[in-house]
Amino acid sequence: MIRKETDTGQIHMNKAIHILLIEDDKNVSTYTTTTLENSGYKVTAAFSGKEGLGLTASLCPDILLLDLGLPDMDGCEVIRQIRSWHDSSRLPILVISARTREEEKVNALELGADDYLTKPFGNAELIARIRTSLRHRHPEMQRKVYRAKDLEIDFEKHRIRLAGAEIHLTQIEYQLLTLLAENSGRVLTYHHLIRTIWGPYADSNNQILRVNMANIRRKIEQNPAQPVYVFTEIGIGYRMLENEAV
Ligand code: CA
Repeated sequence: MIRKETDTGQIHMNKAIHILLIEDDKNVSTYTTTTLENSGYKVTAAFSGKEGLGLTASLCPDILLLDLGLPDMDGCEVIRQIRSWHDSSRLPILVISARTREEEKVNALELGADDYLTKPFGNAELIARIRTSLRHRHPEMQRKVYRAKDLEIDFEKHRIRLAGAEIHLTQIEYQLLTLLAENSGRVLTYHHLIRTIWGPYADSNNQILRVNMANIRRKIEQNPAQPVYVFTEIGIGYRMLENEAV
């Protein structure tokens, strides 16, 4: 259904994007629904995990907003069940939760959530994360170039420029940076990065990842201690500044 993204970053579709909100707190549900409807989304609300799973199967929403603390089952179980369905790989799942423990966020992401937002969150943040999650799951919306501030990555030409000057990365550094850039705006867990770059049998120790990230930062960040392109989410992973290219 998704057609294209315009210069302003608005997603234009032949119908409104349909969001399924699974949230048991009535106040949060009503407020979030109103906010999203005012932004042009169609919203269906579910108030339990079981109801949410049923509606996911019957309505085929474009994206799921999922609270983790549900009355009948843990939201992580909802993610696990949906990701076990054979045709669910293009459904973005954005977790919205009051839980702040790193392990719980990592667990939700490892089970197949695209991203998480910690409550309370702002409306602009919510809508930005929805757009990022939708884009990530739809390859036709992927862009050929990453551009933000002074950094430009041309994925087809394998070229990286900082303020117009070419930057040279090792093959591993390039793979790591482009993986983050292709998923810009989303957090990628340490485990996901290590598995994707070094393979499933790689040592899960983060040391090699940290060393490569330090090298990348030395090359692209003006002050590696205060990065503006790749941010550390302590205990979870890395998030790259959102792509501004159209
Ligand atoms: Ca709840």
